[in-house]
Amino acid sequence: MAGAGDGGGSGSVQKSEEEWRAILSPEQFRILRLKGTELRGTGEYDKVFADGIYNCAGCGTPLYKSGTKFNSGCGWPAFFEGLPGAINRSPDPDGRRTEITCAACGGHLGHVFKGEGFKTPTDERHCVNSVSIKFVPANSPPSL
Ligand SMILES: [Zn+2]
Repeated sequence: MAGAGDGGGSGSVQKSEEEWRAILSPEQFRILRLKGTELRGTGEYDKVFADGIYNCAGCGTPLYKSGTKFNSGCGWPAFFEGLPGAINRSPDPDGRRTEITCAACGGHLGHVFKGEGFKTPTDERHCVNSVSIKFVPANSPPSL
């Protein structure tokens, strides 16, 4: 159950479903832990292009730099690259897409798409739920 044993493949942040429910909003829980998707165009970061870092909304691990965010027009925040080692990829159960998750806590971020022709260095689009991330402006003091 609440096994502290490292199951391998999972990250450094491990919590039970109850613990996650206690610290996440219902919407965050639905998306991060139950792999939900926010409604297109409703996310708070879709049109944000300020300087800073996007952390995992679940565990606070830095995931994306603002410099890798671009306007995809798809209705969700889009990044062409995650921070090294911060993001895991796995085949989505739908058999078509590639799911991306926070490497530290396993929280669901969204999906990554490749070869869509966006003029970015990687030609990848990380399509991320705003709910899954937390923006920290570059000029803000550390919160801890
Ligand atoms: Zn996380």
